[in-house]
Amino acid sequence: MQDQGASAPVVVVGAGIAGLAAARALAEAGEEVLLLEASDHLGGKLRTSEVAGVRVDVGAEAMLNRRPEGVDLARAVGLALEHPTVASSRIWTRGALRPLPRSLMGVPLDLAALEASGVLSEEGLERVRREPSLPPLDLAGADVSVGDLVAQRFGDEVVDRLVEPLLGGVYAGDARQLSARACIPQLVAFAERGSLLEQAAAIPTTYDVPVFAGIAGGMGSWPRRIVDDVSGLRVRTGVTVRELTRTPSGWRLVVGPTTAPEAIEARAVVLATPGAPTARLLAEVAPAASADLAGVEYSSMVVVTFAFDVSDVAGLDATGSSGFLVPPTEARRIKASTFAFAKWGWIRRAGAAAGVAHLRTSLGRHGEATALQASDDELVAWSLADLAEATGLRARPVDVHVQRWGGGLPQYALGHLETVARVRAALPEGLVVAGAAYDGVGIPAVIGSAQRAVADLLAHLRDLPR
Ligand SMILES: Cc1cc2nc3c(=O)[nH]c(=O)nc-3n(C[C@H](O)[C@H](O)[C@H](O)COP(=O)(O)OP(=O)(O)OC[C@H]3O[C@@H](n4cnc5c(N)ncnc54)[C@H](O)[C@@H]3O)c2cc1C
Repeated sequence: MQDQGASAPVVVVGAGIAGLAAARALAEAGEEVLLLEASDHLGGKLRTSEVAGVRVDVGAEAMLNRRPEGVDLARAVGLALEHPTVASSRIWTRGALRPLPRSLMGVPLDLAALEASGVLSEEGLERVRREPSLPPLDLAGADVSVGDLVAQRFGDEVVDRLVEPLLGGVYAGDARQLSARACIPQLVAFAERGSLLEQAAAIPTTYDVPVFAGIAGGMGSWPRRIVDDVSGLRVRTGVTVRELTRTPSGWRLVVGPTTAPEAIEARAVVLATPGAPTARLLAEVAPAASADLAGVEYSSMVVVTFAFDVSDVAGLDATGSSGFLVPPTEARRIKASTFAFAKWGWIRRAGAAAGVAHLRTSLGRHGEATALQASDDELVAWSLADLAEATGLRARPVDVHVQRWGGGLPQYALGHLETVARVRAALPEGLVVAGAAYDGVGIPAVIGSAQRAVADLLAHLRDLPR
């Protein structure tokens, strides 16, 4: 195997949104880039599939519009953004679908709306009303779980019926195990100053800028556009990186089957893979970082997408709702349903042309991996049973698609910020990491981690001979 030294490319491992964003940015900065992806498609958790002849998202379906990283990258590759319609979400609790009161990740912002929603019992509401009289939390720099922080201020009902379903939607996690500092730093800042309710109530209720953005044609139509026709960027799919070692002039990656290994030389490397594969690849070159990343747990989930005859969802459509969340205390199988036809104009139009309307359910929270080992038929039957009970929708779907996301979302445990700082500090020069395991699981945050990795790497590369 020949050492190509300075002529070797920068290699990016993993073509999820982090790897794609990193590869594009490096190529735009003038580097020769090779992007290696284990599966046969680009995008990782951004993926569309055909359901009743219409391509719809079966992974991530939206991104925050109020952070620039995601929407800027979508616009940069010429995509038209679309915002959700005004349809509002609900919560299936205490035997009914109830309006989801305005909140900061489940933390109430509006006492009157909370009272009117019927989500909490009278005792639960009483506890919320007392919150402004509590002294500020004195955390003395320590981390605390989101659930414990909110329970101390508002009692358990707010955690179980509001925070859990909202956090479950984003992290598929358990509020009492997720780090408040890593997941909702704003909450910690509020709690250390005083009343969450009073400070949160001051957050403006009307926004000129929509909270979320999607992409007409699906978030899954975005990945290929990020790397198509970018000068200096080569992409190889179906290539699993199995080993990473140092060479005198850079790095060597081993790919392919053990019977026919292929070595690829690199000037520098971006690992944009989830925690477990990153930990394996770092085992030899950064053992301490490897051990830290091996300890980051992941939750698995399933997205079931249905297409119903348009006439069968007329009743759902009339509610003006975009779906509902289900608190874990309700002991249902599904954790949420999104009425995609009501939420996204492009899905309504594309479905209507085929006479169908799409909606999806999601299943799977942290620690429920075994429940997801059910067959596709069971997952579909559970979803339909919960949908029927919650909404009265009893029609047979025209088409169904089941997408499993094993190890879909990292869990930011207590001390996550310190873990990430240790991982970054333990990496040798010329090797950086990016992705959902570090600075946030939402798409803009993941792209932000890629931008940070690229900036670090470019600073290092500038000092190297070309
Ligand atoms: C079901 C679901 C719905 C979501 N919905 C939203 C949403 O609506 N909005 C939002 O903002 N976020 C959402 N998220 C979160 C967000 O989509 C993810 O956090 C983000 O896309 C992760 O990007 P990534 O690049 O870090 O990792 P991934 O997308 O996991 O990509 C990593 C890539 O690395 C590849 N890989 C792994 N090992 C190797 C190897 N050894 N060699 C080569 N390649 C390898 C994988 O095949 C994969 O393609 C959702 C997540 C899930 C699971």
